Amino acid sequence: MTEVSALSPVPRGSRDALLKFYFGPMDCGKSTLALQMNYNHGRQGRRGLVLTKHDRSGQPRVTSRIGLGLEAVEVVDSMDLVELVRGHDRIDYLICDEACFYTVEQIEQLADLVDEHGVDVYAFGLASDFRSVLFPAAQRLFELADEVCRLQVEVLCWCGRPGLLNARVVGGEMARTGEQVVIGDTDASPVRYQVLCRRHHRSGLLGEGTGS
Ligand SMILES: [Zn+2]
Repeated sequence: MTEVSALSPVPRGSRDALLKFYFGPMDCGKSTLALQMNYNHGRQGRRGLVLTKHDRSGQPRVTSRIGLGLEAVEVVDSMDLVELVRGHDRIDYLICDEACFYTVEQIEQLADLVDEHGVDVYAFGLASDFRSVLFPAAQRLFELADEVCRLQVEVLCWCGRPGLLNARVVGGEMARTGEQVVIGDTDASPVRYQVLCRRHHRSGLLGEGTGS
């Protein structure tokens, strides 16, 4: 008898699993969609895991701006995501929130889970950092994903144009240099993030009444 585990072979005749990447700026509803997707799959009797890293709550949870929340596995750099799934009975899908902050190696592991083990992977995250440069994990997702989808849920720059890029604001000024990942928008942090259109991300104009 073969051992039945989360990584049992895909049943013959079933469709190929997929790696999908949903990206967009802050506040575009990524975490809300991640939670909705988890709910929908769960209702169909599928079993999944929800992963996150650096959630806005500071907890191992996926939380959305509109108040939804769910316990999640906090991804750390040393974590092997194939091993994580192997430790469970049966996993049909993964919801990977904040996937832009995973390591490139972990993105490779996600592709392995899809191809070798038939696990559907739905990754959500930012594409680019505060400089408008791709996060390495996001770049790898663009390269490997079966489907890439830009989310644009009515997040607007102060000028009314679609918000596309995240600006890091320190002391009321837009930062152009610094560490790629700095947690902001907390009481303890002098850093906040603001979504801007491309024009205003390039010019650094933050709009009236939005400087801190
Ligand atoms: Zn603008």
